[in-house]
Amino acid sequence: MLPKPIQNLIDEFAKLPSIGPRQAARFVFHLLSQPKEEIEKFSKKIDEIKKITHCDFCNRVTESNVCEICKDNNRDRTSICLIEKDTDIEAIEKTKRYQGIYCILTENEKEQLKRLKKLIERIKKSKKELNEIVIATDATTEGETIALYAQKQLEELKKIYPELKITRLGRGLSTGSELEYMDEDTLSNAFLGRK
Ligand SMILES: [Zn+2]
Repeated sequence: MLPKPIQNLIDEFAKLPSIGPRQAARFVFHLLSQPKEEIEKFSKKIDEIKKITHCDFCNRVTESNVCEICKDNNRDRTSICLIEKDTDIEAIEKTKRYQGIYCILTENEKEQLKRLKKLIERIKKSKKELNEIVIATDATTEGETIALYAQKQLEELKKIYPELKITRLGRGLSTGSELEYMDEDTLSNAFLGRK
């Protein structure tokens, strides 16, 4: 039997995605082999992420209530890109093909519905200029389901914005591919080919 603090930490690591108990144990024993200051630094960094919150508009992780992208006056506010998760923003930003703002829908179905409704309400209320909504979900079955669902929900905005383009990423994305794992060129082309 391992000392309790060790077993407790192994159990915590094992809760992380794709981490099994053996790998979790490896992490903990690696930490144990480090000088005390290193362990201290590690636990401090974990402590610091408690301060992270979510952007009021796009739901992205941020240290204040509005994220850097939404704060940036150079971004095109007439274009909103819907994605599933934070890491998708990082992937899209790398392609430098998109200058608009984002809205994260998450991968959780119930939450997606809530966030879509909130977004639609917000757009209706703001009455600001809006030219395009890009639906950039993963090319997976789940992503496709969210995309079709979002498309249907967003249709009502066309009553207020008759010119509004609701686009999807260009095909050429192989089925099953997740945005965050796509290479830059593929994602870049998918953005250029959106329709
Ligand atoms: Zn934001």
